[in-house]
Amino acid sequence: MPHAQLMTTIARVWIEDGCIGCGWCIMTCPAVFTWPQGDALIRGESRLDGVTSANRMERSLLTAAGQAEALLIAESAEGCPVEVIRSDDGTALRAG
Ligand code: SF4
Repeated sequence: MPHAQLMTTIARVWIEDGCIGCGWCIMTCPAVFTWPQGDALIRGESRLDGVTSANRMERSLLTAAGQAEALLIAESAEGCPVEVIRSDDGTALRAG
């Protein structure tokens, strides 16, 4: 199966402390990541809460359009030189 990664599900994405502003995630997935002041942030347009921030505390879910970017979000995380991009499939939310 050459495209096993197509099964990737990402419901939430956030950025931990330590971004060095390299720009990789913004270039790779501009629909989800933005870079207004030096550190990367998650775009409000791609989040259900509409807030642009690192999403560390809020852990807002992505919109359907944001979730459709899962492969590029995963590629962004894999290429982040300081490994601060985190994501999950939202399972923890449903478990409670
Ligand atoms: S790839 Fe990582 S270090 Fe580079 S801008 Fe994005 S979050 Fe920051």
